[in-house]
Amino acid sequence: MIKVQALTKQYARTVAVQQISFEVQKGQIVGFLGPNGAGKTTTMRMLTCFLPPTDGTASVAGFDILEQPLEVKRRIGYLPETPPLYLEMETEEYLTFVGKLKGLSGAELAKRVDYVCERCAIGDVRSKLLGKLSRGYRQRVGLAQAILHNPDVLILEEPTAGLDPKQINETRDLIRGLAGDHTIVLSTHILPEVEQTCERVIIINRGKLVATDSVQNLQQRARGGESVLVEIAGRNGILDPAAVKRMLEQVPGVAAVALRERRDSHTTFEVQSSKDHFVRGDLARAVVAAGWNLNELRPAAVSLEEIFLQLTGSEATPERQASAQGAQR
Ligand code: ADP
Repeated sequence: MIKVQALTKQYARTVAVQQISFEVQKGQIVGFLGPNGAGKTTTMRMLTCFLPPTDGTASVAGFDILEQPLEVKRRIGYLPETPPLYLEMETEEYLTFVGKLKGLSGAELAKRVDYVCERCAIGDVRSKLLGKLSRGYRQRVGLAQAILHNPDVLILEEPTAGLDPKQINETRDLIRGLAGDHTIVLSTHILPEVEQTCERVIIINRGKLVATDSVQNLQQRARGGESVLVEIAGRNGILDPAAVKRMLEQVPGVAAVALRERRDSHTTFEVQSSKDHFVRGDLARAVVAAGWNLNELRPAAVSLEEIFLQLTGSEATPERQASAQGAQR
């Protein structure tokens, strides 16, 4: 649905985006990530035909951004970080106005306005002034204007910025619900949001692509091997953690073992395998052969935040940390 080929943008001496290539399949929801200044906004502006690239090209639904910008614009719904709302207009009046700009009219326009009001849960504020709406409602009106002309592709920038935790959850549910009908690119620096919402991520840093993969594959790659949590209990409630640790270290392919938690007779260890070794089977057999109970064996999660920091080498800014915590609440 979206095909980006060696897209490049240079502002005077700054190369904001350098030879970026990626594809997004129909119906997918993809997170577009990068630290501040990485080139996210510049890329989105080129994709939405607001800014011409210096080099390279891209196509949306088969239409080239350079050769057929009108066709591209028709197929994209864009929600910039600050929704383009006219605060002195009422919700329905505004949506009707935007719909006309997008080429809708008559019964079709009225039908689409009804549909987006229902879909974005803004039916109860149809005749309220936009300036009097809460931030959560304004964001939903912003989403409603983006999907009004039923575009194939939705580009959303920081769609939950500034919302409270309840509004964040509602907006994320809404976005997840829109995937499938629309291909969605979610440009954000709130990593838990991407973890919860997106199937794939595209990460850029200093204008260059550093990763494009599923969250799961990135986690696997970041680990280099496997990292598993093993909870063990002694048969009669007695267990010597030091002896267990020594035994686990002997299992072929194990690189490191750390004690994570001791609770009553249960002890949890984190086991890191060597690169490209998968040790779960051997671990399970070794524990059982030693006569202990294997209560649980599960992968230790690597957060997208850790992967992001590994790939971009950037520090989490206080703003990013605050947003991430807000998003997790
Ligand atoms: P992001 O959205 O990831 O924060 P941007 O695309 O806004 O990144 O910016 C990428 C780089 O391009 C930054 O170094 C920024 O300073 C520079 N840049 C962005 N817009 C302009 C502009 N209009 N003129 C000159 N430099 C710009």
